[in-house]
Amino acid sequence: MTDRIHLSASDVTDAEIDAVVAAMRSGWVAPVGPDVNAFEDDLAAYCGRTRCVALSSGTAALHLGLLALGVGPGDRVATATMTFAATANAITYVGAEPVFVDCDDSATMSPQLLERALADQPIRAVIPVDLFGKVADHDAIAAIAAHHGIPVLSDAAESLGATRAGRSAAAYGAAAAVSFNGNKIMTTSGGGALLTDDPELADRVRYLATQARQPVIHYEHTDIGYNYRLSNVLAALGRAQLERLPAMLGRRREIRRGYVDLFAAVPGVSVFGEPSGEIDSPTHDNWWLSSVLVDPAVAGFTAEGLRVALAGADIEARPLWKPMHQQPVFAGSAAVLDGTSDRLFATGLSLPSGSVMSDADITRVHDVITAFVSGRAVDAAS
Ligand SMILES: *Cc1c(COP(=O)(O)O)cnc(C)c1O
Repeated sequence: MTDRIHLSASDVTDAEIDAVVAAMRSGWVAPVGPDVNAFEDDLAAYCGRTRCVALSSGTAALHLGLLALGVGPGDRVATATMTFAATANAITYVGAEPVFVDCDDSATMSPQLLERALADQPIRAVIPVDLFGKVADHDAIAAIAAHHGIPVLSDAAESLGATRAGRSAAAYGAAAAVSFNGNKIMTTSGGGALLTDDPELADRVRYLATQARQPVIHYEHTDIGYNYRLSNVLAALGRAQLERLPAMLGRRREIRRGYVDLFAAVPGVSVFGEPSGEIDSPTHDNWWLSSVLVDPAVAGFTAEGLRVALAGADIEARPLWKPMHQQPVFAGSAAVLDGTSDRLFATGLSLPSGSVMSDADITRVHDVITAFVSGRAVDAAS
């Protein structure tokens, strides 16, 4: 009996356990404390931002980011249809409506289709998403948004550690949201942060995240607040993870390269995402998830067939995010589409990518894929 191999399991070592225990022994078992402050400073420096607010989730960062940018009831916010539901949900939390924009072949928001969405209707803000750790074309998106005089809130929940043109993923936009959920590139078990260079925006988010308490002794409130701060204990875990982030990125990159080599000999299958960037090159993924696109007519099998074969060996693989315009809950929302996300959803499969995978785990995954693919090749030949 072997253990199940997950898509992206959390990668926690004794360093993290020691850090959490030390935080608890310090007495700072609260949503304030020295680890929260230090984690914010370290994250801001890592991302090339001047301000960071540590929060209870990436979703909370998106929610408060929208509020701080003044987005409210009746507003429309353009976002990527190819994303996790949290992005679109946050838009509805402030009473606004999402307008879904299709991706291009990179799986991130198409700037051309964003232009079209902006031509069709008044839009108050844009939330691009760095899908699977691949940084969106932020320069093009920022230029379009600036032309229309609207702010960009970047959903960098999946892209911490990635860069584009030498700039950290979380350094794009008026503000960027990152996530430390258990399956993300680094974790605080649950948590997130908002990064920005705007001191007022950071102060506003910090204020809203701490129940909108006025700075007086008797709990005076002039706004509706939220309880969205990250706990000091979890910030200690985050600090230890951030130190190990370069090593975890390196491991995910090795896993990506392994898939690139494995599938090089398989016609009809392409590894999705940037395969070969060095960790110190100006543009690189964070290699959070490695995915393949399968053309069944050429490959002789479907992405779903490969998924079932892996599941049979207790290995988790999953389709890419189901586009928001296909979700029943967003059935009535406006959308500007060209079919790209539908195609990616129909033909894509994310493979085990976690930095915690051992060499033996990687070999096991490769062996199952190789056996499945060669079985199909034999079927096709006979
Ligand atoms: C994970 C994720 C989020 C939400 O982050 P949480 O910390 O889980 O709330 C938002 N957007 C995207 C694209 C994500 O992948």
